[in-house]
Amino acid sequence: MPLADILDRIARAEAAAGRAPGSVHLIAVSKVQPNDRVEAVLEEGHRLFGENYVQEAAAKWPAWRARFPGVAVHMIGPLQSNKAKQAMELFEAIHTLDRPSLAKKLATQAQARGACPALFVQVNTGAEPQKAGVLPETADAFIAECRAMDLPVAGVMCIPPDGEDPAPHFAMLAGIGARNGLAGLSMGMSADFETAIAHGATHVRVGSAIFGARAAKAG
Ligand SMILES: *Cc1c(COP(=O)(O)O)cnc(C)c1O
Repeated sequence: MPLADILDRIARAEAAAGRAPGSVHLIAVSKVQPNDRVEAVLEEGHRLFGENYVQEAAAKWPAWRARFPGVAVHMIGPLQSNKAKQAMELFEAIHTLDRPSLAKKLATQAQARGACPALFVQVNTGAEPQKAGVLPETADAFIAECRAMDLPVAGVMCIPPDGEDPAPHFAMLAGIGARNGLAGLSMGMSADFETAIAHGATHVRVGSAIFGARAAKAG
């Protein structure tokens, strides 16, 4: 689907929810997409992208940043602690802060660099054993712990369980954000971003609806 159509659907969903135009940021998720598809979207003027793998982002984005001023890339995939330093140099935001050991690593690096990407705490709203994220009942304590380390927590993020109505998960995440005074809500993907916007999403992460189906992940 053309980028313009996705932006139009976002604008309509904002209006339908009584939200200000431009209150939702579209993160175009470019992981494992062919370069020509990503470049087409850059040529159209879009500047905010999402990636899942540190290695892949390091290979692709420095050249595009040089060619397309104003690019921002957000890390939306699981982050290994041993890649934290590299991730902080590559990304304007990290949406997958999900454990104390990673928070400590980021805090140490932030001290050393004097800068830190915006951070979103990932919440496992469906309490799925295989999925990353802090459990909903421990989210408040974890957010407090991150703030005590002076980490710039901008919001919360979730990936609802496959095959379930995402709305209750979006509502739960919005509640966690609100009670912790966090404005950022990273939720909604290709199949459900309009529902997420109705529940207050500030960052929707849309991949296949913009770029087409992905090839199997490289690893
Ligand atoms: C891949 C991915 C997306 C984009 O998914 P689509 O269904 O292609 O829109 C969004 N969020 C996360 C965390 C992802 O890993």
